[in-house]
Amino acid sequence: MNPFTYSRVADPNEALTGIASKPHAKFLGGGTNLIDLMKMGVETPDALIDINRLPLAQVEELPGGKGVRIGAMVRNSDLAEHSLIKSRYPVLSEALLSGASPQLRNVATVGGNLLQRTRCYYFYDPAFPACNKRNPGSGCGAIDGYNRIHAILGQSDQCIATHPSDMCVALAALETVVHVRGPKGEREIPFADLHRLPGNTPNIDTNLQPDELIVAVDLPEIPFATRSHYLKVRDRASYAFALVSVAAALDVDSNNKIKAARIALGGVAHKPWRASKAETELVGKNPNEKTFRAAAETELATAKGYKHNSFKIELAKRAIVRALTTVAGTA
Ligand code: SF4
Repeated sequence: MNPFTYSRVADPNEALTGIASKPHAKFLGGGTNLIDLMKMGVETPDALIDINRLPLAQVEELPGGKGVRIGAMVRNSDLAEHSLIKSRYPVLSEALLSGASPQLRNVATVGGNLLQRTRCYYFYDPAFPACNKRNPGSGCGAIDGYNRIHAILGQSDQCIATHPSDMCVALAALETVVHVRGPKGEREIPFADLHRLPGNTPNIDTNLQPDELIVAVDLPEIPFATRSHYLKVRDRASYAFALVSVAAALDVDSNNKIKAARIALGGVAHKPWRASKAETELVGKNPNEKTFRAAAETELATAKGYKHNSFKIELAKRAIVRALTTVAGTA
């Protein structure tokens, strides 16, 4: 591990001042991903600014019934068990509880969860030369290598990595807004614009600037989010990343027609994948397996598999059907 300095801050402005003065510094929250990456030599910050004492650990209702604000330092386990989240956004609670292990969830923060990096094997091993995300211009070991966990949607010829978070898949479906603070003040980032597809710059995961601090995320008020579900398909029942996951919510009217649907997929793309085409196709239809399958076919029509992960295309379709069937059954 490279040498680095360590400092602790108690105020967001102090955190911003600290990172502005050290361009190779990183904020340290729970550290559940960053410390691993430092041990592997993938991340080499020269300074860690510990933000665990920032007063950003509240979950509170927004005024005027506009939803719920979640501080960036809220721990994943606290958020998963919070009464506002369990009652109004069960998909988020389920996604959080499906991620990592209880010990990791106890320390992992919401802000850190947003910034998790891919679990691509080649990215994690600096002894392996070809990884455009770790070393731009070096190539991609996964495209012709072992690519079982890799992307089937939105990938590029530079990178086929997937985003590893479960929480972020639920946040994508819920159209969360991310609040960040930087040297120019505060700004909001719609969740769909936070993470990036790889394109020609797979080394850049998000549209967050290096000197910006995530302070909170807002969940909009979505009455039908009480009728939501997170389905995660993985190789073993716990402590495994998703091969495919689905966050789903349905609004069904009194005539048994779908008024609105929210669907996001995990494990299939470089960012949480909002299944907008499937959502559009579902509106006005009856909630049944045939309808769900047709929507899944539409969403996955452009999917592209590789030697070891083509199975994900059918798996994603079946997962969408199963998640929506579960939600429809909760009426
Ligand atoms: Fe690197 Fe992306 Fe290729 Fe993995 S898929 S080796 S992260 S460039």
